[in-house]
Amino acid sequence: MNDKLPDHRRLGRELGLFDTDPLMGAGLPYWLPDGAVVRHTLEEYVRDAERRAGYRHVYSPALGKRELYEISGHWDHYRDDMYPPMRLGAEEVVLRPSLCPHHALIYRSRSRSYRELPLRIAELGAMHRAELSGVLGGLTRVRAIHLNDAHIFCTLDQAVAEARAALELIARAYADLGIQAVRHRLSLPGAGGKYVAAPELWRRATGLLREVLAEAGVAYEEAEGEAAFYGPKIDVQIADPAGRESTLSTVQIDFHQPARFDLRYTGADGAGHRPVMVHRSVIGSVERAVAHLVETHGGAFPAWLAPVQLAVLPVAEEQVEPAAALVRQALALGLRAELAGPGEGTLGARIRAARLVPYQAVIGAREADAGLAAVRLRDGRRPGPLPAAELLRRVAERVAGRGTGLWD
Ligand SMILES: [Zn+2]
Repeated sequence: MNDKLPDHRRLGRELGLFDTDPLMGAGLPYWLPDGAVVRHTLEEYVRDAERRAGYRHVYSPALGKRELYEISGHWDHYRDDMYPPMRLGAEEVVLRPSLCPHHALIYRSRSRSYRELPLRIAELGAMHRAELSGVLGGLTRVRAIHLNDAHIFCTLDQAVAEARAALELIARAYADLGIQAVRHRLSLPGAGGKYVAAPELWRRATGLLREVLAEAGVAYEEAEGEAAFYGPKIDVQIADPAGRESTLSTVQIDFHQPARFDLRYTGADGAGHRPVMVHRSVIGSVERAVAHLVETHGGAFPAWLAPVQLAVLPVAEEQVEPAAALVRQALALGLRAELAGPGEGTLGARIRAARLVPYQAVIGAREADAGLAAVRLRDGRRPGPLPAAELLRRVAERVAGRGTGLWD
């Protein structure tokens, strides 16, 4: 491995984002406070984007009865990736390998009319994958996954527009997060018994996904053997600093699970119809998304995601009080600000220690007397001394606007 390339495992430890303990188990990372802030901010971002796009959020349990996954098809087609069932009295329960079956049951929990469609059900939920210990590492191969997932239950006529809107949501998130898709891939089934045998369903779903990609004007490649067991999918591929590709976001059109769960809605004609299920994930799992963000930005997160957004550095002991007051004002505005006082080293050492913090405010005797702060940006720019209120207003505005810009 090239030591020069950013590695999220090394950076995660150095920056105090996350770690693992052999006693907690391989592939079961824990999140430290600075990592938890990044994760929480990312989760809130996605939920907010989904709410604005008409999604409704639910919670559902990370366990389910074995029968649930027999109906969904996971038991037949995906069992190798699942943990063995746990016996509980006469029941067998399984750590869920996906959220889809739960959302299908939520859809089915009441009778549905065409007027409710498209019904967009979203959840950032836990699921588990029985990865072998040899392949586990950092946040990219884990045994407990927290997936940004959603299922859109809609009519056949709505499916293409819904899948396309999901692609747009993904593109907007990538711009806000400063990450880049290296390619879009249409993932098709391969040989073998991994896939449900329903040629007509595969043909229709694949045709619709091609329509989605054509309408969105997205160039794509096709890959056999990369589909979900129940249907084809559009994969949005990312690459790590060494150029290794993986899938972050997906959009799928599924006819299989609606049939397996016998999902219905009442149409305008008063008759029962089968909805289509669009599965989609905007940022994939929070584990993989954060791993990728750490590596892409080398730990210098976009300001709105950074664990600490503003470091306030008093030059000497006499400026500690005005510096602390600036930190308090920043916190009151909802910004993440920290004081790095003279007790933590020379000014130069403190500036170096805060090199990943997007905004630094240095307060010397002159600035303190005038109610100013000398502003330094992480990228080396120095917009000059600004009144404290003006600095906070600019930072809060940048943070609220998301994206990767720091100042203008
Ligand atoms: Zn799904």
